[in-house]
Amino acid sequence: MTGSYTKMWESLGLDLEAHDRLLQAIPPAYGEVYLNQENRPKGMEYFDFVINEIHGLRIQELQDHKAGGGKVIGAFCVFVPEEIVRAAGGICIGLCSGAEIGFDLAEKVLPRSICPLIKSFMGFKLARVCPYFESCDLVVGETTCDGKKKAFEILSDYVPVHVMEVPQMKREKDRSLWAGEVREFMARMEKYTGNRVTEDSLRRAVREVNAKREALMRLAGLRKNSPAPISGKDSLLINQIAMYDDVGRFTAKVNELCDELEIRVREGRGIREQGPRIVITGTPMAVPNWKVPHIIESSGAVVVAEELCTGLRYFENTVNEAGENLDRMIDYIADRYLDINCACFTPNRGRLERLISLVDEYGADGVIHCSLTFCDPYAVESYRVEQALREKGIPLLKIETDYGQGDSGQLKTRIEAFLEMIGRSGE
Ligand code: SF4
Ligand code: SF4
Repeated sequence: MTGSYTKMWESLGLDLEAHDRLLQAIPPAYGEVYLNQENRPKGMEYFDFVINEIHGLRIQELQDHKAGGGKVIGAFCVFVPEEIVRAAGGICIGLCSGAEIGFDLAEKVLPRSICPLIKSFMGFKLARVCPYFESCDLVVGETTCDGKKKAFEILSDYVPVHVMEVPQMKREKDRSLWAGEVREFMARMEKYTGNRVTEDSLRRAVREVNAKREALMRLAGLRKNSPAPISGKDSLLINQIAMYDDVGRFTAKVNELCDELEIRVREGRGIREQGPRIVITGTPMAVPNWKVPHIIESSGAVVVAEELCTGLRYFENTVNEAGENLDRMIDYIADRYLDINCACFTPNRGRLERLISLVDEYGADGVIHCSLTFCDPYAVESYRVEQALREKGIPLLKIETDYGQGDSGQLKTRIEAFLEMIGRSGE
């Protein structure tokens, strides 16, 4: 990225020195994790370009949108309905929170022992290093877990925050509570953007976001082939970029990549010939958190699916497009989101069932459960995951980690031992 964006970063109020340190840290990590991979599809060039321009071109697009009176809305969770933001003329941006930035500042307002994702979003804001965050007119929080819920109260000292109440169960009364929250969110968006959501604008937004999900689903489907035509790391990167790139352009680029991968599949070509096939499940992996997939794939295995919010949970169900009026359309949107299998729900049988079916559909040899430190919902639920997989004889490795690199050696040893174990049992 060139220095030509410095003025823009300055106008956003970034701490330029801290921001420079962040930008300098990303390229070496990216080169080592991504560009060193052999046999990458040509279609990945676009996604490399997006990362290369991560704080440049897309931020410029957001500024142009704002200059025309548009709003930018930030989100930390896949429960925030992007369709509604778009239908009101806004742009919805997933804020990443995948790096140890500004932790010293975050620890002044948060306890030290809190999930790194929460510490990271607070740190990014307090350290003023993220141009996405600084471009947001409003941030949408949710009540998915206690840590986030309380952290949003503090975050609202620094940026306007709207919190959506996500229920913790999926009964009929929870569905109506959630549908009410989606309606309230729509009213807030209308007020905030000054644009009415109409049947036409909502229908168009639903179609566009569904098309993005369908493209990602097409990509996921291609990974069922053996050999896998694309690495898990590249697939994760695409899912991470899905949260902030321009929706139409991103969808077209994923479909172009899929055209290329279909040729690979027809010719029986993949990223590598052999190696155990792994499904990852657990907490989201936000940019630039590529640690565990990198260790798995540099140990000879291939990740074929992610039961993550930076994976299938983000795109595998679409909104029913048959809503005949605005009211029905909103109900369908609410239904779609409530089908997400987040560990904040009790019980959360859907996640266990989906995980078992994924292993079968993707021909996986084992599952790696990866949760962030201090994440109670996923750490506690990992017991049920273990039980369910054991009953089916599916090998599982449970990992708990943070954004630091200090445990990489130990993780590599454990992952290699697991891969060797499943490799032996598969012989
Ligand atoms: S794990 Fe739950 S809280 Fe976190 S992004 Fe996913 S749905 Fe939201
Ligand atoms: S990873 Fe767990 S603790 Fe952290 S924000 Fe998500 S649900 Fe909450």
